[in-house]
Amino acid sequence: MAHTPNPSRRSWVSPPTPFLTPRPERRELRWAEAGSHSSVRRSGVGACSINGGNDRDREANVQVVLRCRPLSVEEQKANVQSAVSCNDTKREVTVLNSLFKQADKTFTFDKVFGPKSQQRAIYDHAVAPIVDDVLEGYNCTVFAFGQTGTGKTYTMEGEMMQQVGELPASAGVMPRAVRHIFDILKAQKAVYSMKVTFLELYNEEITDLLASEDQSRFPEDRHKRPTISLMEDGKGGSVIRGLEEIVVYSPGEIYSLLQHGSTRRRTADTALNMQSSRSHSVFSIYIHVKVTTTGNQELMKYGRLNLVDLAGSESIARSGAKEVRAREAGELNKSLLTLGRVITALVEDSVHVPYRDSKLTRLLRESLGGKAKTCIIATVTPSVHCLEETLVTLDYAYRAKSIRNKPEVNQ
Ligand code: ADP
Ligand code: MG
Repeated sequence: MAHTPNPSRRSWVSPPTPFLTPRPERRELRWAEAGSHSSVRRSGVGACSINGGNDRDREANVQVVLRCRPLSVEEQKANVQSAVSCNDTKREVTVLNSLFKQADKTFTFDKVFGPKSQQRAIYDHAVAPIVDDVLEGYNCTVFAFGQTGTGKTYTMEGEMMQQVGELPASAGVMPRAVRHIFDILKAQKAVYSMKVTFLELYNEEITDLLASEDQSRFPEDRHKRPTISLMEDGKGGSVIRGLEEIVVYSPGEIYSLLQHGSTRRRTADTALNMQSSRSHSVFSIYIHVKVTTTGNQELMKYGRLNLVDLAGSESIARSGAKEVRAREAGELNKSLLTLGRVITALVEDSVHVPYRDSKLTRLLRESLGGKAKTCIIATVTPSVHCLEETLVTLDYAYRAKSIRNKPEVNQ
């Protein structure tokens, strides 16, 4: 598709300060034919439903894959020992406890990506199949889960600067998914409408990473920015109120928005000396595709893709008295902790699954244990210094592997 960058949006790629981003014009959501549009349109602040998807005629499931990053140059220089061994073919990862005279521990996942694996391989083998499902009308989520510094953001975002042409080798899941979606729409000559949202969840507060704001109204203090509320929709799902849904027609537009939101997240962190390691980001793409059947019947497929960069898993490793202290210090991540409990309840087939106990699990309820397709990318470092945290991550991810969503047809 010939993408013509809109000059008025150029500042979104590398804004002088992300809080001074010019507000794009508001436009209504409307149908587009693949390849026919090139400018960003906002549909405006709205209520965006968490639930979605139809034609769920295939079995839904949860895929858990493991990615182990390479030792960094600094770690190599410091002769840090590697304590994780990956066998991509056997889909096994072994934690070398034998270095500490204990038995090694091996875990099997749906896929294992060792330190040499490329961004493209992760996307093609773990994520691409579920993106295909989004266009078939499924509600799908990709989570990056792991200790801070293990490559969650690298895996999800990677390099996102490129607007047109080939994606760089370091491009992560987000830009690759965007490109993939548009490639399919183009190949199908699809009639579609699409919008995106990008939010951050920190201390159980949601902020809109794409909100139009000016510095005077909303200073670089996330606590002074308007927060977004999460309401019940009466059907067991949730609705986000106040989140801007941006109508998009080309990959370049979405790359700019991703870049913008991700820069805003980082800048807010620096300004307040906060750690992005304690916040979750959720980027969502909503797609309606109009399909005409051979019998000339018009069908609508509605899919949603959530790409989630979770807070560092170190915050769920705390327990007991330490947990109380951590909560008092505001260090405990309620959402991540609840996500762990939800996973446990689903694995144990409990009658009560505590989705309602945190905003993240309310937001993503439909993606865990419901009708959705989920891919969890657990990230670890091979460093011997992080062995304990690596085991926590592997343990949680392994338990999530046992969740098998029951196939249901969406009403
Ligand atoms: P997290 O988001 O989990 O805290 P980051 O994505 O910020 O971790 O990664 C930490 C550092 O490691 C970054 O400098 C990143 O570029 C690098 N890194 C992570 N994974 C890889 C990888 N697979 N290959 C090369 N560098 C990586
Ligand atoms: Mg990160």
